[in-house]
Amino acid sequence: MSHGDGTRVVRAGLPDAEQGAPFLPGPVFAGPFHLKGDVASSEWAYTRYGNPTWARYEAALAELERGEVVLFASGMAAAAALLLTSLRPGSAVAIDADCYLNVRRLAQTHLEPRGVEVRLAPPAGLADAVQGADLLWLESPSNPKLDVYDLVALADAARAAGALTVVDNTTVGPLYQKPLVLGADFALTSATKHLSGHSDLMLGYVATRDPDRAAGLRDWRRDAGAVPGPFEAWLGHRSLATLDVRLERESANALALAELLGARDDVSGVRYPGLRGDPGHEVARRQMSGFGTIVGFDLGGRERAERFLARAELITEASSFGGVQTTAERRLRWGGDDVTEGYIRLSAGCERTADLVADVERALHA
Ligand SMILES: *Cc1c(COP(=O)(O)O)cnc(C)c1O
Repeated sequence: MSHGDGTRVVRAGLPDAEQGAPFLPGPVFAGPFHLKGDVASSEWAYTRYGNPTWARYEAALAELERGEVVLFASGMAAAAALLLTSLRPGSAVAIDADCYLNVRRLAQTHLEPRGVEVRLAPPAGLADAVQGADLLWLESPSNPKLDVYDLVALADAARAAGALTVVDNTTVGPLYQKPLVLGADFALTSATKHLSGHSDLMLGYVATRDPDRAAGLRDWRRDAGAVPGPFEAWLGHRSLATLDVRLERESANALALAELLGARDDVSGVRYPGLRGDPGHEVARRQMSGFGTIVGFDLGGRERAERFLARAELITEASSFGGVQTTAERRLRWGGDDVTEGYIRLSAGCERTADLVADVERALHA
């Protein structure tokens, strides 16, 4: 029988029932494993080459992604693996100009000087920018501006141009959006965010349907050494079971806040793909099965944004997103993103909706 993903995550990657054994075996902590004689005689030899705790979590994530999964130490380790294994001197990559700041910086600081042409383009320019390129790098919804891109159309354009497509799926994640099903060659997710969901670890992964490309990424991980810790991988796997319930509450909270903010005339530029009237709503409805937990809005200036963050009791001021606590930040405090001084990116947590809405209303009023 085939179950929905919200049900599958509860048991994904668990071993078959065995009398007296735990449901999810604990992390396997090892550098080297016992290995006598022929090195091919054991699946496990040295953790940088592979670890059974990773393998279980990868198998669980593969069920969600509909492709093979290669786990890394962080989302950026996964991004670096993709960029460095896909591009070489003379290659060109077309990158969404609103994509995650560190991805742009990595490409410009370390690839451009090595002879890779890095073409940053706004959403509307990506189909042109991919002509003659080897790789198209997308993020939808984008972080931090929450623009929604037509992934099917852009992956088609890339394929026609002979380029591979990467979708950084971190802002919404694989339960609500499946880039490989939409035509991407690679899906990248920082599991530091919703997948782990408790703001206490760093992990990332790449999913692909092509076994050779997956093998290439595993070889890169072994040789470059950006390997996840077994404890982090185990915690990530342990958190997967509650992904659906967490996202359900968090997304309901995000929608309630977006509706509240959108109805006020002292708040502008509210972005949430689930909001009717959001520029991305129609495309989001086609390609996402849920709209996620992140809301963007503009409080008109730095001072009001800072005051709001200081006064809201249920909003923890922090970067990142996808945790059980509601967090938010004035994004421009980092510099480097094309957003206004008063732009706040908020990640809705698992608090009761009525409490969160009341808190935000009070903090706006103050
Ligand atoms: C956080 C994030 C990353 C990087 O992930 P880390 O786990 O922090 O390395 C990449 N892309 C997006 C969209 C992110 O939000």
